[in-house]
Amino acid sequence: MEKPLLNVRDLRVAFPTPTGYVEAVRGVNFSLARSEVMSLVGESGSGKSITMRAVMGLLPPTALVTGSVKFDGRELLGVPESEMRRVRGAKMSMVFQDPLTALNPVLTAGEQVVEAIRIHHPEVSSKTAREMAIELFRSVAIPYAEKRVDQYPHEFSGGMRQRVVIAIAIANRPDVIIADEPTTALDVTVQAQVLELLRDLCDKNRTGLVLITHDLGVVAGMAENVSVMYAGSIVEQAPVDELFEGARHPYTRGLLGALPQITGEISRLNDIGGTPPTAATIPVGCAFNPRCVFADELCREVKPELRSFNGGEVACHYAHTLPAHELQGEFA
Ligand code: ADP
Ligand code: MG
Repeated sequence: MEKPLLNVRDLRVAFPTPTGYVEAVRGVNFSLARSEVMSLVGESGSGKSITMRAVMGLLPPTALVTGSVKFDGRELLGVPESEMRRVRGAKMSMVFQDPLTALNPVLTAGEQVVEAIRIHHPEVSSKTAREMAIELFRSVAIPYAEKRVDQYPHEFSGGMRQRVVIAIAIANRPDVIIADEPTTALDVTVQAQVLELLRDLCDKNRTGLVLITHDLGVVAGMAENVSVMYAGSIVEQAPVDELFEGARHPYTRGLLGALPQITGEISRLNDIGGTPPTAATIPVGCAFNPRCVFADELCREVKPELRSFNGGEVACHYAHTLPAHELQGEFA
């Protein structure tokens, strides 16, 4: 594999609360290579969005962010906002869950693409940028691109709107795209089309893609590598096939246990007993211990670190001793 484009080490994010800081992201490590598709999965509230917003420099100034985020060898954490603006949208861009809030309702779709291009390339004329916008609309398969560029966001369907957002995200050919549950707000029938489009574009441009999703079917179909997040930490990281065949972390195994075997229906990650902690109530030791049938004294006292295992990494004191495939019944 090539040298990673994006390299995140010991990333931590804390938010101030009336009773002091609470850590929502607790020491995340991952890297992403050119052309790689990595999926970040985990229950709602596990810190997926906050992690990626920290990478993009998109958190409110009150958030305390520490660690290291290197892009192409260059440290991004702590660089002034004016510098980050040059990175965002040009080198790395983000696609959010809700395409309506991501777009400006008073500008036409085309104007927003033009703006995205000209912020980073003021030397491009408005006329050329408009032609580029039409070309981008074609590349994201928006029909009647020449007409559609002059329409406003409300004139587009949800699926078409997300294509506009993707057109903006790819306008400057970024090296990395972070897509945060990009199809959750869309009709089931268009979800697959939008994801396929995103993957094809990344493939064509050799863009690295971080895909946040809670849909394991999407993970299986799109990702090469998977990172599983729980309570602000990555608890397991592995190539997708290895994860599906031999997940070792009890939490990951719970998630996979929730995957319907034959029906192929969309699965949600909510079939594990108990509820995940919030950032303010993360237990001492392994954060998963109150929900884990294997937990003992050690798990209640010491937080396990990610350690290499079977081509991946896992943060569980007992990963090496748990049987690989006996998933049934553990979480019943
Ligand atoms: P996910 O994307 O995995 O569903 P998030 O990254 O949005 O989860 O949130 C992770 C945790 O951070 C949650 O427990 C949430 O309550 C907390 N959190 C998010 N934003 C803030 C904030 N502005 N202030 C305090 N806590 C926050
Ligand atoms: Mg989120």
